Amino acid sequence: METVVSGIRPTGKLHLGNYFGAVSNFVRLQQEHNCYFFIADYHCLTTHPVHVDMQNNVKSILVEYLACGIDPDVSTLYVQSDVPEVAELYLLLNMNAYKGELERCTTFKEKIKKQKDNINAGLLTYPVLMASDILIHKATKVPVGHDQKQHLEMSRTFARRFNRLYNRDYFPEPHAFNFGNSLIRIPGLDGGGKMGKSEGANNAIYLSDTPEEISKKIMRAVTDSGPIEPNQKKPEAIQNLFSIMKAVSSSETLTYFDDLYSNCKIRYGDFKKQLADDIILFTSQLREKISEISDDEDYLKKVMKQGAEKAHQNAAKTIREVREIIGFRN
Ligand code: AMP
Repeated sequence: METVVSGIRPTGKLHLGNYFGAVSNFVRLQQEHNCYFFIADYHCLTTHPVHVDMQNNVKSILVEYLACGIDPDVSTLYVQSDVPEVAELYLLLNMNAYKGELERCTTFKEKIKKQKDNINAGLLTYPVLMASDILIHKATKVPVGHDQKQHLEMSRTFARRFNRLYNRDYFPEPHAFNFGNSLIRIPGLDGGGKMGKSEGANNAIYLSDTPEEISKKIMRAVTDSGPIEPNQKKPEAIQNLFSIMKAVSSSETLTYFDDLYSNCKIRYGDFKKQLADDIILFTSQLREKISEISDDEDYLKKVMKQGAEKAHQNAAKTIREVREIIGFRN
């Protein structure tokens, strides 16, 4: 049995990228491993320093985690800021994280282009906080999407560096994980890039979107005037819609439209209608569960309390050991 850790920032509702890149794997992993799943509210402050609706956003991710099938009696499901030991480990790991390596991080470079007037230290040290989330539980498996691959490499670097500096084989090396051969990347609907919470309102399909919203977003998704030669390579915007279809539709449906594209017979209207119908079908059960669970405030409070206690217990043990290794008094 391995230890698994993963989290999602509460900066918006869960979308299909979060589901396929992370949460669907959480649900499968919890059967066989010791799992810690958290809501990354500290991380939010790197992009949203004044969070207008923190508690509601935390609640909505918690509800969606539960609706997707995370069992709080099997996994440890908690809110990051309920476990301040994470912040202590972050401080300690920051002492051995170097400016150069942090500045070279692709997500840092992307983020500073997007928020030129708020290039804060938290943004630079985001991978250190992520490493702390993982190493605090000494996890070896981290179910994440393709966008987190480089961060995971950095977590391994920080673990190795700590072990080398203090001459102990203390932290295991964590690895990014997805069922299947490679890490998943669900693209957005705007023709380029990944599906994401901060990429614009119509870029993402959220698990809680109504059927009408889903249809509208898919029908509006960027396409082109259609293939002009048989077997031509699909441009990015079209390939993106096929990638989403691959995630939600049957393989027969995918092959059917792929063949139509290759023969230049595809009609994007039909293709998009099928894609929208399949997403609606795929998300219908989740949507029902989301609305059912969100009304049960007592249950949600109980889940958060239980998760905080379980996560705190394990994190406190790691911090005690780390302080001892470094040479602080406990
Ligand atoms: P975030 O929404 O950025 O906090 O990401 C939470 C989790 O969802 C991480 O494990 C990401 O790797 C995963 N994720 C986010 N967007 C996508 C995407 N478009 N495709 C695949 N995985 C994703």
